[in-house]
Amino acid sequence: MSAAPRSIDCREAVERLYEYLDQELTPEVRAEVEHHLRSCAGCFRHFDFERAFLRFLEARARGRGAGPEVKQRILRELFGPEEA
Ligand SMILES: [Zn+2]
Repeated sequence: MSAAPRSIDCREAVERLYEYLDQELTPEVRAEVEHHLRSCAGCFRHFDFERAFLRFLEARARGRGAGPEVKQRILRELFGPEEA
């Protein structure tokens, strides 16, 4: 049995969105992201958009071989330059 998911804020949810969509998260972190999405309409909308967008990209990538640099570029366009 696992404990209730830890609460994460919107920033953390957004940061994890791509790993979530890439299915790179541990079950614990997936639960945290899902928990946040259920309780935050803003992030849920964002998530829904990203999921549709990534599906579109994947479909294109299958035909044209887009690499990780494409995703990085899109991330930059969506969120601006990385804050270090
Ligand atoms: Zn949120």
